[in-house]
Amino acid sequence: MKILVGVKRVPDPNVKVRVRSDGAGVDLANIKMTVNPFDEIAVEAAVRMKESGEASEVVVVSCGTTQSQDALRTALAMGADRAILVQTDAELQPLAVAKILKELVARESAELVLLGKQAIDDDSNQTGQLLAALLDAPQATYASSIRRQGDQLTVVKETDDGRETVEMSFPAVITADLRLNEPRYVTLPNLMKAKKKPLEVVDVASLGVDIAPRFRTVSVREPAARKPGELLPDVAALVSRLRAETNLN
Ligand code: AMP
Repeated sequence: MKILVGVKRVPDPNVKVRVRSDGAGVDLANIKMTVNPFDEIAVEAAVRMKESGEASEVVVVSCGTTQSQDALRTALAMGADRAILVQTDAELQPLAVAKILKELVARESAELVLLGKQAIDDDSNQTGQLLAALLDAPQATYASSIRRQGDQLTVVKETDDGRETVEMSFPAVITADLRLNEPRYVTLPNLMKAKKKPLEVVDVASLGVDIAPRFRTVSVREPAARKPGELLPDVAALVSRLRAETNLN
């Protein structure tokens, strides 16, 4: 089973991003970038399936600018076999990424696509679902466990009310949630070795996919500043404050 894993380059979650002065987005100049954390989990899951013999090859894909190669190298250092950069400077919305991935699934004859449940830059949480629809393939979102038995995949999904276990055949699309695994650290020797692994660059135009944006960002604003906390002297003061603020007598 060949696995295709989507890897997006996003701002490091520990960095505080600022809204651009024109309010049209966030300022990414000189911001530390990293692999989308949910995609690291997806890569880890794929690599573990390869290590356990459940998968034959792990191919990581990133769609974006040439700098996305950094994210691919990290995924290769984690154990992926090879990488594909679908290169473009254009803005890519989830539908465009899903269409690109659909082309690559066909080209690679991939049987499983593993994605993060969402990219932490736009929090869209759409690409996996759109891709499954375009492929007319089964999907399992928010996966916290994936097991392969023969030609069946058993996936445990995180839901608001608990856990749901689903079985499906492949080709399939699965999106990774936080509890699926803890991704391994990338060591320097593995990063060096990853430089020798194949990384193919594909021009997005060569895929013949319509990547035109379907929506326009009207404005971006900082969240409202939180009020500072207050220390009350004792429990009685806390109870009386809560009563006053919730109008309880
Ligand atoms: P989103 O729907 O934007 O929240 O993204 C969900 C998942 O789709 C991400 O966690 C990635 O696995 C994948 N994905 C989104 N955008 C890209 C991209 N530009 N390149 C590769 N994978 C992507």
